[in-house]
Order: sequence, then structure tokens, then C-alpha cells
Amino acid sequence: MIRRALITGSFDPITYGHIDIINRAASMFDELVIGIIKNPRKGGLFTIEERTEMIEDLFKDRPEISVDSFQGLLADYVNPRDLCAVVRGLRTEKDFAYEIEMAQVNQQLFREGVESVFLMARPEYSIVSSSNVREIVSVGGTPPEGMVPDKILQKMKEKYAQKG
Ligand code: ADP
Repeated sequence: MIRRALITGSFDPITYGHIDIINRAASMFDELVIGIIKNPRKGGLFTIEERTEMIEDLFKDRPEISVDSFQGLLADYVNPRDLCAVVRGLRTEKDFAYEIEMAQVNQQLFREGVESVFLMARPEYSIVSSSNVREIVSVGGTPPEGMVPDKILQKMKEKYAQKG
């Protein structure tokens, strides 16, 4: 039996913090699906298609890692699919407070056999978030080394230049 997990997030854009959690989750399961959450209320910096393309490019040599996107209730995506876990990263107490509530609600909604799994952020990534990175780049700055891959940083700079 193949053990397949899902890792969800906005990934707008993907950071080294996400990449670390993805690699660690991928080593725990046979297959990992990166599920980009489409939030109609949040426009976001990159479109879902752009985020998908960037993530697929980063993991192009990893056949066990795939990318998908979804909108609406997480359980509606998870329950009909062959998934045994939903993975999330925890950076701070703030993440924990939010995630425990979500996980306990999801526990009621997920079918039997689906678990929420949490991986603690490495200390060097605990202050890395997509929004931090966006804030720095949006005002013409360059995030400290180790926050976001160069390729992604380049795309962010192009995007903000287009936006003017
Ligand atoms: P962000 O808060 O950066 O916008 P997302 O909504 O894309 O993040 O988060 C997707 C998942 O990745 C969440 O479980 C989140 O806690 C986790 N995550 C995000 N950044 C990091 C990080 N630097 N280290 C560990 N986990 C992270």
C-alpha cells in the first residue's frame, strides 16, 4: 500500500521554510502532494498557475512529489482521495494556536484513516514566511540569504516591477 500525504498552504511564494518541511514530509511518506489553497478572497502576488509552475520546477527531479490546487473545504478534497495524512509546519505558538483548532475541526470532518501531522520548523526557518519575504521585496529590498531560492526572488522582483 502506497502511503500518500498532502501538504497544504498558499505558497505565495514558496520559501526555504516550505521546502524544508516538504523535504522532511517527503521522507516520511511514499508520495507527497503539495496542495496550493486557492483563496478567492486573497488575490495574492502570484497566480495559482504561476505558483504551480514554480513549485513543479523546484521539484522536477522528484517524481514522488506532485503539485495540485484546490478551493473550498479541505475535507472535501482529502476524503475522496487516497491520502493518509495532511502535513503542516509549525513555526510559532501563533501557528500552533491556529493549527490545533483547525486540526480538531478537521478530525471531525476527515474520513477514518486521515491524520493531521505537524512538523516543527527548524529554528533558522521559524521567522521565514511568504508575507515577510513579500514585504521586503515589495519595497525594493532583498531578503536575507536562505529565505527564498534565487529563482523565486527573481520572479518576485519581475512581478513587483510589472505592478509598478
Ligand atoms: P505562509 O504563512 O508563509 O504564507 P503558507 O500558508 O504557505 O505559509 O503555509 C503552508 C504551510 O507551511 C503551513 O503549515 C505553514 O505553517 C508552513 N510553513 C510556512 N513557512 C514555514 C517555515 N518557514 N517553516 C516551517 N513551516 C512553514
